[in-house]
Amino acid sequence: TEACLKAIEGAGALNAFVHHTPEIAMEQAGKADARLEAGEAPAMCGLPIGIKDLFCTKGVPSQAGSRILEGFLPEYESTVSQNLFDAGAVMLGKLNMDEFAMGSSNETSVYGNAVNPWRRGNDDAQLTPGGSSGGSAAAVAADLCLAATGTDTGGSIRQPAAFTGTVGIKPTYGRCSRWGIVAFASSLDQAGPMTKSVRDAAIMLEAMCGHDPKDSTSADLPVPDFEAALTGDVRGKKIGIPKEYRMDGMPEEIEALWQDGIAMMKDAGAEIVDISLPHTKYALPAYYVIAPAEASSNLARYDGVRYGHRAKLDQGDGITEMYEKTRAEGFGAEVQRRVMIGTYVLSAGFYDAYYNRARKVRTLIKKDFEDVFAQGIDSILTPATPSAAFGLGEMADADPVQMYLNDVFTVTVNLAGLPGIAVPAGVDRQGLPLGLQLIGRPWEEADLLSSAYALE
Ligand code: GLN
Repeated sequence: TEACLKAIEGAGALNAFVHHTPEIAMEQAGKADARLEAGEAPAMCGLPIGIKDLFCTKGVPSQAGSRILEGFLPEYESTVSQNLFDAGAVMLGKLNMDEFAMGSSNETSVYGNAVNPWRRGNDDAQLTPGGSSGGSAAAVAADLCLAATGTDTGGSIRQPAAFTGTVGIKPTYGRCSRWGIVAFASSLDQAGPMTKSVRDAAIMLEAMCGHDPKDSTSADLPVPDFEAALTGDVRGKKIGIPKEYRMDGMPEEIEALWQDGIAMMKDAGAEIVDISLPHTKYALPAYYVIAPAEASSNLARYDGVRYGHRAKLDQGDGITEMYEKTRAEGFGAEVQRRVMIGTYVLSAGFYDAYYNRARKVRTLIKKDFEDVFAQGIDSILTPATPSAAFGLGEMADADPVQMYLNDVFTVTVNLAGLPGIAVPAGVDRQGLPLGLQLIGRPWEEADLLSSAYALE
């Protein structure tokens, strides 16, 4: 813990930690020592970790990367962070992220972006650590903590993991409780671990997840021993390669990475099967209707009264001015864009044409996966991202749709509620890490982690 606190102090330029909690860390580390001395050794005992700013942590600023939550100190602890503390984990602080987890580069954060510790060859241009869990990925990659929590609504654990050479798993929807996690799109949001290895991910996921009566969508299922299931034995397993993920204009390096992954799995004894997920091309448009729709509803609670920031009002301003001024000041441009898209697709005249249509598409995407699993496919192998980490500013200045295209390989998994893991699997020409994604059957994280172990 002390070594990590020191490393964090020296790594301010990465802007990964946005709230530091050294006193809490030392206190928790002391408790962990006492537990070890008492002969107890819970799974995360004494392990220093970072918590994404989206998780409410009791008495510790939890701003979800937004100005609107300035000054908000939760009176409660999120179930996931509580579970980790119960398992002995030590919190070093809160990690940078895109505002309300909306983004793929960490550039929508009110704190300014986190920076990827990796560089392109000898070029010192700063790169994005990805988003929205960019602070988590940068902190793990730069050894500022042993692991971190992330959340993934459309790829926010897997894309930053791929951009930083770390491991990130989004479990099945319902595996982790969402209680105390600031809501973005409730039917898609899931928490998960971001770690240095598949084994660490297995240990941390087990500590994080489990049934929680406080979240009605949390599953009442036993939590398997994920670490014990890590054999890396893929002999006889059927791994599907979906032809629709071979996008036009996919960089050669990504194609080559995918082929390497296929060869590794074949060598390890898996059977490689060509599959089709025919509705893949509708996933991104459906996601960018459903996610903003849910976000516009979830974000209605930030009204200048209940939480955080309230704008200074002029004499004679009424409640409407208070809402308008507070929300105009408190939300950044991307969040405002999502709220506007969301309210538009939910409005009376357009509800059927956009929101209901997107929900129907979502059902078809889910069915695509059910069909291939019914054919005996165990997991599906794809690239995690369409490129390596890009330069800061490179995409933020472009049309927002360019940024949305980053999520092309990851959003299907959230729409279908499936588990997905990103594993580092090689480097590009300039030495930047690239990641592969494995998608598993619902609730089969143990099998998914074990297969990912074979790729590591
Ligand atoms: N990049 C996607 C978005 O902006 C996904 C974000 C996430 O998974 N939280 O919506």
